[in-house]
Amino acid sequence: MKTIIEPFKIKTVEQLYFTTPEERKGLLTAAHYNPFLLHSEDVLIDLLTDSGTTAMSAKQWSALMDGDEAYAGSRSYYKFEEAVCDITGFSNIIPTHQGRAAEKILFSILGAPGKIIPNNTHFDTTRANIEESGSLAVDLPDPSGIKTEVAADFKGNMDTDALRALIARVGAENIPVVMLTVTNNSGGGQPVSMKNIRDVSAIAHEYRIPFYLDACRFAENAMFIKLREPGYENTPVKKIAQEMFSYADGCTMSAKKDGLVNTGGWLAINDDKLAAKARNVLIVTEGFPTYGGLARRDLEAIARGLVEVLDESYLAYRLRSIEYLGDAVEKNGVPIMRPTGGHAVYLDAKRFAPHIHLDHFPAQAIVCALYLKGGIRSVEVGSVMFGTYGPNTDDRSGAREQIHPPMQLVRLAVPRRVYTQSHIDYVAEAVSEVYAEREKLTGLRFTYEAPVLRHFTARFALV
Ligand SMILES: *Cc1c(COP(=O)(O)O)cnc(C)c1O
Repeated sequence: MKTIIEPFKIKTVEQLYFTTPEERKGLLTAAHYNPFLLHSEDVLIDLLTDSGTTAMSAKQWSALMDGDEAYAGSRSYYKFEEAVCDITGFSNIIPTHQGRAAEKILFSILGAPGKIIPNNTHFDTTRANIEESGSLAVDLPDPSGIKTEVAADFKGNMDTDALRALIARVGAENIPVVMLTVTNNSGGGQPVSMKNIRDVSAIAHEYRIPFYLDACRFAENAMFIKLREPGYENTPVKKIAQEMFSYADGCTMSAKKDGLVNTGGWLAINDDKLAAKARNVLIVTEGFPTYGGLARRDLEAIARGLVEVLDESYLAYRLRSIEYLGDAVEKNGVPIMRPTGGHAVYLDAKRFAPHIHLDHFPAQAIVCALYLKGGIRSVEVGSVMFGTYGPNTDDRSGAREQIHPPMQLVRLAVPRRVYTQSHIDYVAEAVSEVYAEREKLTGLRFTYEAPVLRHFTARFALV
Protein backbone atom coordinates (compact mmCIF):
# COMPACT_ATOMS: atom_id res chain seq x y z
CA MET A 1 0.00 0.00 0.00
CA LYS A 2 1.24 3.50 -0.90
CA THR A 3 -0.58 5.53 1.76
CA ILE A 4 1.36 6.02 4.98
CA ILE A 5 -1.24 6.18 7.75
CA GLU A 6 -1.15 7.44 11.34
CA PRO A 7 0.21 4.39 13.21
CA PHE A 8 -2.20 4.88 16.13
CA LYS A 9 -5.91 5.14 16.81
CA ILE A 10 -7.59 7.70 19.03
CA LYS A 11 -8.67 6.82 22.59
CA THR A 12 -9.19 10.28 24.12
CA VAL A 13 -10.18 13.44 22.27
CA GLU A 14 -9.75 17.11 23.07
CA GLN A 15 -12.23 19.77 21.96
CA LEU A 16 -11.15 22.38 19.42
CA TYR A 17 -12.56 25.90 19.74
CA PHE A 18 -13.65 27.84 16.67
CA THR A 19 -13.54 31.62 16.31
CA THR A 20 -14.82 33.87 13.53
CA PRO A 21 -12.45 36.01 11.40
CA GLU A 22 -14.00 39.12 13.05
CA GLU A 23 -13.22 37.74 16.54
CA ARG A 24 -9.68 36.86 15.51
CA LYS A 25 -9.06 40.41 14.34
CA GLY A 26 -9.88 41.70 17.83
CA LEU A 27 -7.92 38.93 19.56
CA LEU A 28 -4.79 39.53 17.46
CA THR A 29 -4.92 43.28 18.05
CA ALA A 30 -5.26 42.65 21.79
CA ALA A 31 -2.21 40.32 21.54
CA HIS A 32 -0.20 43.14 19.90
CA TYR A 33 0.26 41.10 16.69
CA ASN A 34 2.33 38.55 18.63
CA PRO A 35 0.62 35.11 18.66
CA PHE A 36 2.77 34.10 21.67
CA LEU A 37 0.42 36.42 23.61
CA LEU A 38 -2.81 34.69 22.45
CA HIS A 39 -4.75 32.40 24.75
CA SER A 40 -4.51 28.87 23.34
CA GLU A 41 -8.31 28.48 23.44
CA ASP A 42 -8.46 31.22 20.81
CA VAL A 43 -6.25 29.11 18.51
CA LEU A 44 -7.76 26.40 16.30
CA ILE A 45 -4.65 24.60 15.03
CA ASP A 46 -1.59 25.31 17.15
CA LEU A 47 1.66 24.98 15.20
CA LEU A 48 3.61 27.33 17.46
CA THR A 49 5.91 24.55 18.57
CA ASP A 50 6.44 20.81 18.62
CA SER A 51 7.90 21.19 22.11
CA GLY A 52 5.99 19.52 24.93
CA THR A 53 2.86 19.39 22.77
CA THR A 54 3.06 15.64 22.11
CA ALA A 55 0.05 13.38 22.62
CA MET A 56 1.18 10.67 25.03
CA SER A 57 0.22 7.06 24.44
CA ALA A 58 -2.04 4.94 26.62
CA LYS A 59 1.09 3.09 27.77
CA GLN A 60 2.74 6.36 28.82
CA TRP A 61 -0.34 7.49 30.74
CA SER A 62 -0.48 4.18 32.55
CA ALA A 63 3.26 4.40 33.29
CA LEU A 64 2.59 7.73 35.06
CA MET A 65 0.36 5.91 37.52
CA ASP A 66 3.23 3.57 38.32
CA GLY A 67 5.64 6.42 39.16
CA ASP A 68 7.62 5.97 42.38
CA GLU A 69 7.57 9.42 43.97
CA ALA A 70 10.48 8.79 46.35
CA TYR A 71 12.74 11.83 46.72
CA ALA A 72 15.92 9.79 46.49
CA GLY A 73 16.69 6.55 44.62
CA SER A 74 13.29 6.32 42.93
CA ARG A 75 12.64 3.19 40.88
CA SER A 76 11.34 5.50 38.13
CA TYR A 77 14.75 7.19 37.91
CA TYR A 78 16.52 3.87 37.37
CA LYS A 79 14.06 2.97 34.61
CA PHE A 80 14.69 6.34 32.98
CA GLU A 81 18.45 6.02 33.35
CA GLU A 82 18.41 2.56 31.77
CA ALA A 83 16.29 3.76 28.83
CA VAL A 84 18.56 6.77 28.13
CA CYS A 85 21.73 4.73 28.62
CA ASP A 86 20.49 2.00 26.27
CA ILE A 87 20.28 4.52 23.41
CA THR A 88 23.09 6.97 24.22
CA GLY A 89 25.65 4.79 26.01
CA PHE A 90 26.68 7.76 28.20
CA SER A 91 27.73 6.98 31.75
CA ASN A 92 26.19 9.87 33.74
CA ILE A 93 22.52 10.63 33.04
CA ILE A 94 21.30 13.74 34.85
CA PRO A 95 17.56 14.48 34.58
CA THR A 96 16.42 18.11 34.21
CA HIS A 97 13.00 19.74 33.94
CA GLN A 98 13.63 20.64 30.28
CA GLY A 99 16.41 21.10 27.74
CA ARG A 100 17.47 24.63 28.67
CA ALA A 101 18.08 23.55 32.27
CA ALA A 102 20.62 21.02 30.97
CA GLU A 103 22.20 23.78 28.86
CA LYS A 104 22.29 26.18 31.80
CA ILE A 105 24.14 23.64 33.96
CA LEU A 106 26.62 22.61 31.24
CA PHE A 107 27.55 26.14 30.15
CA SER A 108 27.68 27.56 33.66
CA ILE A 109 30.53 25.05 34.21
CA LEU A 110 32.25 25.12 30.78
CA GLY A 111 31.56 28.70 29.71
CA ALA A 112 33.49 31.83 30.70
CA PRO A 113 34.35 35.20 29.17
CA GLY A 114 36.72 34.69 26.22
CA LYS A 115 35.47 31.15 25.50
CA ILE A 116 33.91 30.31 22.15
CA ILE A 117 31.33 27.57 21.57
CA PRO A 118 30.58 26.50 17.97
CA ASN A 119 27.50 24.64 16.73
CA ASN A 120 25.93 23.99 13.31
CA THR A 121 23.28 26.51 14.44
CA HIS A 122 22.63 27.31 18.08
CA PHE A 123 19.02 27.10 19.20
CA ASP A 124 17.85 30.34 20.86
CA THR A 125 17.98 29.04 24.47
CA THR A 126 21.39 27.46 23.82
CA ARG A 127 22.74 30.75 22.55
CA ALA A 128 21.21 32.65 25.49
CA ASN A 129 22.72 30.25 28.06
CA ILE A 130 26.15 30.39 26.39
CA GLU A 131 26.07 34.17 26.28
CA GLU A 132 24.94 34.36 29.89
CA SER A 133 28.14 32.48 30.83
CA GLY A 134 30.13 35.22 29.08
CA SER A 135 31.11 32.93 26.17
CA LEU A 136 30.52 33.60 22.50
CA ALA A 137 28.13 31.32 20.56
CA VAL A 138 29.25 30.81 16.95
CA ASP A 139 27.16 29.23 14.15
CA LEU A 140 28.99 27.24 11.47
CA PRO A 141 26.22 25.94 9.16
CA ASP A 142 27.01 24.15 5.93
CA PRO A 143 26.65 26.73 3.11
CA SER A 144 23.71 24.75 1.62
CA GLY A 145 21.85 25.18 4.91
CA ILE A 146 21.09 28.85 4.38
CA LYS A 147 19.76 28.53 0.82
CA THR A 148 16.06 27.73 1.10
CA GLU A 149 15.61 26.78 -2.56
CA VAL A 150 18.48 24.27 -2.71
CA ALA A 151 17.27 20.74 -1.93
CA ALA A 152 20.04 18.66 -0.39
CA ASP A 153 19.93 15.59 1.84
CA PHE A 154 21.78 16.91 4.88
CA LYS A 155 21.42 20.67 5.02
CA GLY A 156 21.78 20.56 8.81
CA ASN A 157 25.48 19.67 8.61
CA MET A 158 28.21 21.74 10.18
CA ASP A 159 30.78 23.33 7.85
CA THR A 160 33.85 21.34 8.93
CA ASP A 161 36.29 23.64 7.08
CA ALA A 162 34.85 26.56 9.04
CA LEU A 163 35.29 24.56 12.27
CA ARG A 164 38.98 23.94 11.49
CA ALA A 165 39.44 27.61 10.60
CA LEU A 166 37.79 28.70 13.87
CA ILE A 167 40.03 26.41 15.94
CA ALA A 168 43.12 27.73 14.10
CA ARG A 169 42.03 31.32 14.65
CA VAL A 170 40.99 31.30 18.33
CA GLY A 171 42.96 28.31 19.67
CA ALA A 172 41.59 24.99 20.90
CA GLU A 173 42.19 26.06 24.52
CA ASN A 174 39.45 28.70 24.10
CA ILE A 175 36.85 26.22 22.85
CA PRO A 176 35.53 24.27 25.87
CA VAL A 177 33.07 22.19 23.81
CA VAL A 178 31.94 21.69 20.21
CA MET A 179 28.16 21.26 19.90
CA LEU A 180 26.13 19.76 17.05
CA THR A 181 22.34 20.06 16.95
CA VAL A 182 20.40 17.09 15.48
CA THR A 183 18.22 17.90 13.64
CA ASN A 184 19.25 21.52 13.12
CA ASN A 185 16.12 23.21 14.51
CA SER A 186 17.05 26.85 13.83
CA GLY A 187 18.42 25.83 10.42
CA GLY A 188 15.02 24.57 9.24
CA GLY A 189 14.83 21.22 11.06
CA GLN A 190 17.30 19.79 8.55
CA PRO A 191 19.17 16.58 9.38
CA VAL A 192 22.87 16.06 10.00
CA SER A 193 24.54 13.09 8.28
CA MET A 194 26.36 10.36 10.16
CA LYS A 195 29.46 11.31 8.16
CA ASN A 196 29.24 14.89 9.42
CA ILE A 197 28.76 13.73 13.03
CA ARG A 198 31.82 11.49 12.63
CA ASP A 199 33.90 14.27 11.01
CA VAL A 200 33.00 16.95 13.57
CA SER A 201 33.75 14.48 16.37
CA ALA A 202 37.14 13.61 14.82
CA ILE A 203 38.13 17.28 14.46
CA ALA A 204 37.08 18.12 18.03
CA HIS A 205 38.94 15.11 19.42
CA GLU A 206 42.06 15.83 17.36
CA TYR A 207 42.30 19.02 19.44
CA ARG A 208 41.12 17.33 22.67
CA ILE A 209 37.92 19.36 22.71
CA PRO A 210 34.85 17.55 24.10
CA PHE A 211 32.07 16.99 21.55
CA TYR A 212 28.39 17.20 22.61
CA LEU A 213 25.16 16.62 20.73
CA ASP A 214 22.09 18.80 21.23
CA ALA A 215 19.99 15.67 20.83
CA CYS A 216 16.40 17.03 20.96
CA ARG A 217 15.38 15.38 17.67
CA PHE A 218 17.82 12.48 17.58
CA ALA A 219 15.19 9.95 16.42
CA GLU A 220 13.95 12.08 13.51
CA ASN A 221 17.60 12.65 12.54
CA ALA A 222 18.31 8.90 12.72
CA MET A 223 15.34 8.17 10.44
CA PHE A 224 16.61 10.70 7.88
CA ILE A 225 19.97 8.90 7.95
CA LYS A 226 18.21 5.60 7.30
CA LEU A 227 16.26 7.07 4.37
CA ARG A 228 19.04 9.15 2.81
CA GLU A 229 22.57 8.10 3.75
CA PRO A 230 24.09 5.27 1.71
CA GLY A 231 24.91 2.24 3.81
CA TYR A 232 22.17 2.75 6.43
CA GLU A 233 19.09 1.65 4.46
CA ASN A 234 18.88 -1.69 6.27
CA THR A 235 20.12 -0.58 9.68
CA PRO A 236 17.49 -0.42 12.46
CA VAL A 237 16.90 3.20 13.50
CA LYS A 238 17.81 2.41 17.08
CA LYS A 239 21.25 1.21 15.96
CA ILE A 240 21.67 4.38 13.92
CA ALA A 241 20.81 6.48 16.98
CA GLN A 242 23.28 4.49 19.07
CA GLU A 243 26.00 5.11 16.50
CA MET A 244 25.24 8.87 16.44
CA PHE A 245 25.71 9.07 20.22
CA SER A 246 28.82 6.87 20.14
CA TYR A 247 30.87 9.72 18.60
CA ALA A 248 29.94 12.20 21.36
CA ASP A 249 31.16 12.78 24.91
CA GLY A 250 27.75 13.80 26.13
CA CYS A 251 24.50 15.49 25.15
CA THR A 252 21.86 17.96 26.18
CA MET A 253 18.30 16.84 25.57
CA SER A 254 14.80 18.28 25.64
CA ALA A 255 12.53 15.25 26.07
CA LYS A 256 9.68 17.59 25.05
CA LYS A 257 10.69 16.75 21.49
CA ASP A 258 11.80 13.19 20.77
CA GLY A 259 11.14 12.04 24.34
CA LEU A 260 7.43 12.15 23.36
CA VAL A 261 6.46 13.79 26.66
CA ASN A 262 5.08 17.11 27.85
CA THR A 263 8.06 18.04 30.00
CA GLY A 264 11.53 16.78 30.84
CA GLY A 265 15.09 16.59 29.62
CA TRP A 266 18.56 15.50 30.57
CA LEU A 267 22.23 16.26 30.56
CA ALA A 268 24.43 13.23 29.77
CA ILE A 269 28.17 13.34 30.43
CA ASN A 270 30.89 10.72 30.11
CA ASP A 271 33.49 12.70 32.08
CA ASP A 272 32.92 11.74 35.75
CA LYS A 273 34.54 14.87 37.17
CA LEU A 274 32.44 17.17 35.03
CA ALA A 275 29.34 15.12 35.92
CA ALA A 276 30.05 15.56 39.64
CA LYS A 277 30.19 19.34 39.15
CA ALA A 278 26.99 19.25 37.11
CA ARG A 279 25.17 17.29 39.83
CA ASN A 280 26.25 19.90 42.39
CA VAL A 281 24.72 22.67 40.27
CA LEU A 282 21.65 20.47 39.70
CA ILE A 283 21.02 20.08 43.43
CA VAL A 284 21.01 23.87 43.89
CA THR A 285 18.94 24.71 40.82
CA GLU A 286 16.78 21.72 39.85
CA GLY A 287 16.66 19.06 42.56
CA PHE A 288 18.17 15.81 43.76
CA PRO A 289 20.06 13.83 41.04
CA THR A 290 17.40 11.11 40.86
CA TYR A 291 14.63 13.49 39.85
CA GLY A 292 16.17 16.77 38.62
CA GLY A 293 13.15 19.05 38.79
CA LEU A 294 10.64 16.49 37.54
CA ALA A 295 7.92 14.47 39.20
CA ARG A 296 9.24 10.90 39.20
CA ARG A 297 6.24 9.79 37.15
CA ASP A 298 7.53 12.07 34.35
CA LEU A 299 10.66 9.91 34.21
CA GLU A 300 8.42 6.87 33.62
CA ALA A 301 6.75 8.62 30.68
CA ILE A 302 10.15 9.50 29.16
CA ALA A 303 11.41 5.92 29.52
CA ARG A 304 8.36 4.68 27.61
CA GLY A 305 8.49 7.59 25.11
CA LEU A 306 12.05 6.65 24.13
CA VAL A 307 10.85 3.17 23.12
CA GLU A 308 7.92 4.54 21.09
CA VAL A 309 9.91 7.26 19.31
CA LEU A 310 12.26 4.68 17.77
CA ASP A 311 9.35 2.70 16.29
CA GLU A 312 10.00 2.94 12.56
CA SER A 313 6.32 3.03 11.58
CA TYR A 314 5.99 6.09 13.82
CA LEU A 315 9.06 7.79 12.30
CA ALA A 316 7.99 6.99 8.71
CA TYR A 317 4.59 8.58 9.43
CA ARG A 318 6.20 11.50 11.23
CA LEU A 319 8.55 12.49 8.41
CA ARG A 320 5.91 11.81 5.74
CA SER A 321 3.30 13.98 7.49
CA ILE A 322 5.65 16.98 7.39
CA GLU A 323 6.55 16.32 3.75
CA TYR A 324 2.80 16.00 2.95
CA LEU A 325 2.14 19.54 4.23
CA GLY A 326 5.17 20.87 2.34
CA ASP A 327 4.03 19.20 -0.91
CA ALA A 328 0.47 20.50 -0.50
CA VAL A 329 1.50 24.17 -0.20
CA GLU A 330 4.27 23.96 -2.81
CA LYS A 331 1.70 22.69 -5.31
CA ASN A 332 0.08 26.13 -4.97
CA GLY A 333 3.37 27.93 -5.53
CA VAL A 334 4.11 28.74 -1.86
CA PRO A 335 7.89 29.15 -1.39
CA ILE A 336 9.19 26.86 1.36
CA MET A 337 12.52 25.68 2.66
CA ARG A 338 13.34 22.57 0.69
CA PRO A 339 13.38 19.72 1.40
CA THR A 340 11.03 19.67 4.42
CA GLY A 341 12.66 18.95 7.76
CA GLY A 342 11.67 16.53 10.51
CA HIS A 343 9.28 18.54 12.64
CA ALA A 344 8.15 21.57 10.69
CA VAL A 345 7.48 23.21 7.37
CA TYR A 346 9.24 26.55 6.98
CA LEU A 347 7.76 29.19 4.67
CA ASP A 348 10.34 31.44 3.03
CA ALA A 349 9.05 34.94 3.80
CA LYS A 350 11.61 36.73 1.60
CA ARG A 351 10.13 35.07 -1.47
CA PHE A 352 6.55 34.94 -0.05
CA ALA A 353 6.29 38.69 0.68
CA PRO A 354 9.16 40.45 -1.12
CA HIS A 355 7.29 43.76 -0.96
CA ILE A 356 7.75 44.02 2.82
CA HIS A 357 11.06 45.58 3.90
CA LEU A 358 13.09 43.35 6.24
CA ASP A 359 12.92 46.07 8.91
CA HIS A 360 9.14 45.48 8.90
CA PHE A 361 9.35 41.74 9.56
CA PRO A 362 7.77 39.99 6.54
CA ALA A 363 7.68 36.61 8.34
CA GLN A 364 5.82 38.10 11.32
CA ALA A 365 3.29 39.60 8.88
CA ILE A 366 2.64 36.12 7.44
CA VAL A 367 2.32 34.65 10.96
CA CYS A 368 -0.41 37.21 11.71
CA ALA A 369 -2.19 36.57 8.41
CA LEU A 370 -2.33 32.80 9.03
CA TYR A 371 -4.02 33.41 12.36
CA LEU A 372 -6.54 35.82 10.84
CA LYS A 373 -7.25 33.46 7.93
CA GLY A 374 -7.63 30.15 9.73
CA GLY A 375 -6.97 30.49 13.46
CA ILE A 376 -3.58 28.86 12.87
CA ARG A 377 -0.73 29.77 15.17
CA SER A 378 2.82 29.65 13.78
CA VAL A 379 6.06 31.39 14.71
CA GLU A 380 8.49 33.79 13.07
CA VAL A 381 12.06 32.48 12.74
CA GLY A 382 13.82 35.50 11.30
CA SER A 383 14.65 39.01 12.39
CA VAL A 384 12.22 39.09 15.30
CA MET A 385 13.80 35.97 16.80
CA PHE A 386 17.45 36.44 15.78
CA GLY A 387 17.87 40.08 14.75
CA THR A 388 20.39 42.32 16.50
CA TYR A 389 21.33 45.96 16.26
CA GLY A 390 24.44 47.69 14.96
CA PRO A 391 25.44 51.28 14.48
CA ASN A 392 23.84 52.94 11.47
CA THR A 393 26.75 53.83 9.22
CA ASP A 394 24.75 56.48 7.31
CA ASP A 395 23.64 58.30 10.42
CA ARG A 396 26.05 60.18 12.69
CA SER A 397 23.45 60.81 15.42
CA GLY A 398 24.15 57.39 16.98
CA ALA A 399 20.96 55.78 15.63
CA ARG A 400 21.03 51.99 15.52
CA GLU A 401 20.05 49.89 12.56
CA GLN A 402 18.69 46.35 12.53
CA ILE A 403 21.01 43.54 11.48
CA HIS A 404 19.06 40.75 9.81
CA PRO A 405 19.83 37.01 9.88
CA PRO A 406 20.22 35.37 6.44
CA MET A 407 16.78 33.74 6.44
CA GLN A 408 13.27 35.04 7.17
CA LEU A 409 11.13 32.00 7.89
CA VAL A 410 7.67 31.15 9.21
CA ARG A 411 7.78 27.88 11.09
CA LEU A 412 4.75 25.60 11.05
CA ALA A 413 5.84 23.11 13.73
CA VAL A 414 3.74 19.98 13.91
CA PRO A 415 3.07 18.50 17.37
CA ARG A 416 3.72 14.77 17.57
CA ARG A 417 0.70 12.44 17.17
CA VAL A 418 -1.78 15.30 17.70
CA TYR A 419 -3.32 16.38 14.38
CA THR A 420 -4.93 14.21 11.69
CA GLN A 421 -4.54 14.45 7.93
CA SER A 422 -7.68 16.64 7.58
CA HIS A 423 -6.26 19.15 10.06
CA ILE A 424 -3.14 19.33 7.91
CA ASP A 425 -5.25 19.69 4.73
CA TYR A 426 -6.97 22.67 6.38
CA VAL A 427 -3.59 24.24 7.23
CA ALA A 428 -2.39 23.79 3.63
CA GLU A 429 -5.58 25.47 2.37
CA ALA A 430 -5.14 28.48 4.69
CA VAL A 431 -1.44 28.91 3.82
CA SER A 432 -2.24 28.73 0.11
CA GLU A 433 -5.03 31.33 0.44
CA VAL A 434 -2.79 33.75 2.34
CA TYR A 435 -0.20 33.29 -0.42
CA ALA A 436 -2.77 33.98 -3.14
CA GLU A 437 -3.58 37.30 -1.41
CA ARG A 438 0.03 38.06 -0.46
CA GLU A 439 0.15 41.61 -1.80
CA LYS A 440 -2.35 42.57 0.93
CA LEU A 441 0.19 41.68 3.68
CA THR A 442 1.37 44.64 5.79
CA GLY A 443 4.63 44.96 7.74
CA LEU A 444 5.01 45.57 11.47
CA ARG A 445 7.18 47.58 13.85
CA PHE A 446 8.06 47.01 17.51
CA THR A 447 6.18 48.90 20.21
CA TYR A 448 7.95 46.85 22.92
CA GLU A 449 10.97 44.53 22.87
CA ALA A 450 12.77 42.78 25.75
CA PRO A 451 16.60 42.80 25.80
CA VAL A 452 16.92 38.98 25.38
CA LEU A 453 14.70 36.39 23.62
CA ARG A 454 12.53 39.28 22.51
CA HIS A 455 10.19 37.24 20.30
CA PHE A 456 8.40 35.73 23.30
CA THR A 457 7.05 39.02 24.67
CA ALA A 458 7.42 41.50 21.78
CA ARG A 459 4.56 43.83 20.92
CA PHE A 460 3.95 45.21 17.44
CA ALA A 461 1.86 47.73 15.54
CA LEU A 462 1.09 47.75 11.81
CA VAL A 463 3.24 50.11 9.75
C1 LIG B 1 13.72 22.94 22.38
C2 LIG B 1 15.15 22.97 22.15
C3 LIG B 1 16.05 23.27 23.18
C4 LIG B 1 15.61 23.70 24.56
O1 LIG B 1 14.78 22.78 25.18
P1 LIG B 1 13.58 23.22 26.16
O2 LIG B 1 13.02 21.93 26.61
O3 LIG B 1 12.62 24.04 25.34
O4 LIG B 1 14.16 24.01 27.27
C5 LIG B 1 17.40 23.22 22.89
N1 LIG B 1 17.85 22.92 21.66
C6 LIG B 1 17.01 22.64 20.64
C7 LIG B 1 17.56 22.28 19.30
C8 LIG B 1 15.64 22.66 20.84
O5 LIG B 1 14.82 22.39 19.83
